[in-house]
Amino acid sequence: MTSSLLQLPDWHTLASRSLSGEMLTRKEARAVLDAPDDMLLEQLAAAYRVRRHYWGNRVRLHFLLNAQSGLCPEDCHYCSQSKISTAEIEKYPLLAQDKILSAADRAAQLQAGTFCLVISGRSPTESVFSKVLEAVREIKANYNLKICACLGILSEEQTHRLAAAGVDRVNHNLNTSENHHSQICTTHTFDDRVATVKNVKAAGITTCSGGILGMGESDEDVIDLAFSLRELEVTSVPLNFLIPIPGTPLAQKQELNPRQCLRILCLFRLVLPSQEIRIAGGREVHLRSLQPLGLYPANSIFVGDYLTTPGQAAHQDWQMIRDAGFVLEAADGSVLEEDLIPNLLHADG
Ligand code: SF4
Repeated sequence: MTSSLLQLPDWHTLASRSLSGEMLTRKEARAVLDAPDDMLLEQLAAAYRVRRHYWGNRVRLHFLLNAQSGLCPEDCHYCSQSKISTAEIEKYPLLAQDKILSAADRAAQLQAGTFCLVISGRSPTESVFSKVLEAVREIKANYNLKICACLGILSEEQTHRLAAAGVDRVNHNLNTSENHHSQICTTHTFDDRVATVKNVKAAGITTCSGGILGMGESDEDVIDLAFSLRELEVTSVPLNFLIPIPGTPLAQKQELNPRQCLRILCLFRLVLPSQEIRIAGGREVHLRSLQPLGLYPANSIFVGDYLTTPGQAAHQDWQMIRDAGFVLEAADGSVLEEDLIPNLLHADG
C-alpha cells in the first residue's frame, strides 16, 4: 500500500495525460491499484472523464453463446471446460445451426449490439470452422448484430476466412501477464495467444482481447497485462473477475473485493483510454452492490449468462444502466430509443 497521501498522484492529472495519449508510468499504474479506499470516488471520477470523452454515457451490451462446451484438451486452470476440470457442466459438440440462430435472435431481442459466438477447444477443426462460417453468414443476413467469434488459437488463413464471412471481431484473451501465464496454463503459451491476436489484426478484423483478474497474479502482472494490451493496440478489452469454480485448480482463489475490482477497471481505462472496456464474467459476484460504479470506467457489459455460469436477469441490467443515468447503445452505435426501455424493463430474462 502507498504509505502517505503525499505520494499519491493527482487522479485528474492522470486522466488529462491519458486523454492526451500519454502512457501512465509503471509507478503511477501501481498507485492506482494501491490507493486507499477513501480515494476510490476520485479515481472513478477521473476514469469517467476519460470514458465520457470517448463513449459519452452509452453502455454497449454483448450477448454470449457457448456454442460448443467442454471436451477441451487444454488445461487453463480457471476454466470449467478444461481437460483437468471436474466441474459438473454441460458438455456438447457444436450446436446445430438452428440453435445458434435462435440464440442470435435472443441477442437481438435483448438489444445486444454484439453476438459473441464462443466455442471451447484449443483450435477449431475444419469441420467445426466451416459450420461456424456458415452460421456467421446466416446471422449477418438476418440480424443487425455485430459478430464476435471466440474460437481459440487461429492461423492467419483462418482469420482471413472469418473476415470474408463477415465476422466483425475476434476475441482471444491474453488472460494474464506473460510472466504469470505458465501458472495458469501449460498447454499453450502467452506467445501463442499474442500470435492469434496479431493474426486477427492482420486480417483487418477488430481485435477483442482482455484478461481474468484474481488468479493469483501480482499488481505488476495486472499492469503488465494492461500495458501488453495497449502495445497490441487491441480495440475491445473484456475484463473478467475470476469466478472460482469447484472442480478447477483455482476453486479456492478468493482474492478480490469490489473496491479492488473498481480500481482495476480505473487502471485499464487510464491505460486504454479509447478502447471499449467491458466488465465481463464475475461482475455480479465480485462487484456486487457496487456494480453500477463499474459503468464509470467501463462502457460495456454482457447481458445474459456467461459461458458456464449464470448472469443476473437482463431487466436488472437495463434497470441498473438507467438508474445510474446511462443509456443503452443500439447495434449501430446510436442511443437506443427511450420508448423501448419500459418494455425491456418488464421483459422476461
Ligand atoms: S479457456 Fe478455452 S482453451 Fe482454455 S480450457 Fe477453457 S475452453 Fe479450453
